[in-house]
Amino acid sequence: MKICSDVDGVILDYIQGFIDFTKRKKIAYSHDPELYGVIRNFPNNEEIRDQFHSGDDLRLLNYFDDSLKILNTLATQHELHIVTALEPEQAQKRTFNLRELNYTSLKCVGDDYKEKTIVEEIQPDVMLEDRPELIESFYNAGIRVLYPDWHLYTKGMDRFATPFSNWLEIPKLLQNNSKNTEAI
Ligand SMILES: [Mg+2]
Repeated sequence: MKICSDVDGVILDYIQGFIDFTKRKKIAYSHDPELYGVIRNFPNNEEIRDQFHSGDDLRLLNYFDDSLKILNTLATQHELHIVTALEPEQAQKRTFNLRELNYTSLKCVGDDYKEKTIVEEIQPDVMLEDRPELIESFYNAGIRVLYPDWHLYTKGMDRFATPFSNWLEIPKLLQNNSKNTEAI
């Protein structure tokens, strides 16, 4: 099976990383967990993002519980492609972030090319994604999508995709996937 996964919000806790960064830098920020995306409503969004991305914070994001272990187990039996919307200039930091992960490919493509890279180039059997617009796009492209349901902004996405509350649920959800495929 060809598995593809997004990184921020699925494998790594970008949101907490950003919150910790604003606290350390004493930047006033109140996070709205119902809205996708953390860097919003600053008069200088891009500047704040660049500041966050230019330091060490990005290299040191934490994994969500069990994500690394489960993905490495899956990588022994399946193709595992990682696609992140982080700008290509950040590829080195992202590679460092994911240095313990045994992936088949890692692409750091930027926001504008992420969807196209996945739908046209990788064409996975299963996609793990947390961004609501993309969950819907991948569903519309005929890709089976799994999404983390611990984010409030993914509420209602079960119209298009299968929720998971914990990485430990993933192997079983994927087993169901192969059964369904065989049945077709
Ligand atoms: Mg994401």
